[in-house]
Amino acid sequence: MEKVRTAIIGGGAAGLFAAASLPNGCGKIILFERGDRLGRKLSATGNGQGNISNEEISLARYFCVGDRSDATIGKALKRYGVESIKEFFENLGVLLQTDERGRVYPSSRQASSLTDALRREVSSRGVDVRLNARVTSLKKKGDVFLIGYDSADGEKTIAAETVLLCTGGKAAKNFGTDGSAFALAQGLGHGVTALYPSLVQLKTDTAFIKTLKGIRVNDALVRAYIGEEEACALTGDIIFTDYGVSGDAIFRVSAFVSERLLEGARLSIDFLPTVSEERLFSFLLNKRKNVKSCPEEELLCGIVNNQIARAIAKRAGTGLKDLVAVTKDFTLKVTGSLGFDYAQVTKGGVPLSEVNERFESKKVKGLYFAGETLDIDGECGGFNLHFAYASARTVAQAIGKNSLEKSKGRGQV
Ligand SMILES: Cc1cc2nc3c(=O)[nH]c(=O)nc-3n(C[C@H](O)[C@H](O)[C@H](O)COP(=O)(O)OP(=O)(O)OC[C@H]3O[C@@H](n4cnc5c(N)ncnc54)[C@H](O)[C@@H]3O)c2cc1C
Repeated sequence: MEKVRTAIIGGGAAGLFAAASLPNGCGKIILFERGDRLGRKLSATGNGQGNISNEEISLARYFCVGDRSDATIGKALKRYGVESIKEFFENLGVLLQTDERGRVYPSSRQASSLTDALRREVSSRGVDVRLNARVTSLKKKGDVFLIGYDSADGEKTIAAETVLLCTGGKAAKNFGTDGSAFALAQGLGHGVTALYPSLVQLKTDTAFIKTLKGIRVNDALVRAYIGEEEACALTGDIIFTDYGVSGDAIFRVSAFVSERLLEGARLSIDFLPTVSEERLFSFLLNKRKNVKSCPEEELLCGIVNNQIARAIAKRAGTGLKDLVAVTKDFTLKVTGSLGFDYAQVTKGGVPLSEVNERFESKKVKGLYFAGETLDIDGECGGFNLHFAYASARTVAQAIGKNSLEKSKGRGQV
């Protein structure tokens, strides 16, 4: 049977980062990817522009469904922060730049430049890349892992001393991530927390927004509540749809609430966050006095989008106070999300309590995890790819160290 030192399962962001980071002298490395190309999802990130990291990387920007282990994530993020990822790509010939919101992109604004650079590096290191090779079974026998996978010549098995499982989550299954690979971790005794879609559009009660389909509002303040508790408050764009709301602000909000949507979640939209209630009230009072030709239900026209002005007026009734109150607090009951197929990220995964600070399994020696397979998800803005990077580099460093020690022991170095 074919035998390798290290097998990386999953040729997405984390798999590519790991394969491009394992030090020389690690023995034969094989990378399995079920799709026909490496890094297909990476090439589609950030609307094709590749928002790879963020200047504000910190533990506070990440979530876990299970218990959060600061020792694991915190250490990885400290060791491999934003300067580290910039240096990493610079060494691969890709310049990263930061936009006004702290988001880090390749200066080409093409996510594919990231993927191309990683693919080139992986290939120059002689990593044995197997495409259209879906791993279907993973077992440990004695000191080695037996990996069963589909190939053009039927099912095959290889043996590996070390395995990195980085098969992603359950979000966006058109990129090869349908959640089925969690069974590989479970087969080796690992748990998987409850899974939820995150960075996703939200379904809401549509009674008050039926006329707003397709309208985009820039820089609205969105507050999300679970019951009486404010889960987050942030400013961004909203797009009204036939099922509810989408847009940058909604994707960001979903990270804070998606596992609790059925616990009475609601959104409160402030359409004029930079105008105080008092100022808006006195402005409308003057308008009512001075612009006599303006019908009551159109008082907000010219202040917010006309369609929105009418929707607010319809909801508020005729009193000016109510008009102001609804403009500053347009409430929508959340009824769900568009689900995993539309989500960018999965909340949940292999619990952090089951890995050590090198993301090695506490249950099975030699088994490592990186990226979205783990129970960690980040806010919108480059945090998820950054975690794929930081965890993969942490694992590559640990595997590299072990592997070099093994080589020394065998007199191969
Ligand atoms: C449309 C979209 C846009 C996004 N934009 C951003 C962004 O701008 N910034 C950001 O930080 N994050 C973004 N994300 C999230 C980010 O892409 C993911 O968090 C990141 O790719 C996770 O990396 P990963 O390596 O863990 O998983 P993935 O990149 O999902 O890779 C997992 C790989 O494993 C393969 N695989 C699965 N099962 C098997 C198996 N059994 N055998 C072999 N291979 C298998 C899959 O085919 C896949 O290629 C976006 C996601 C989407 C869908």
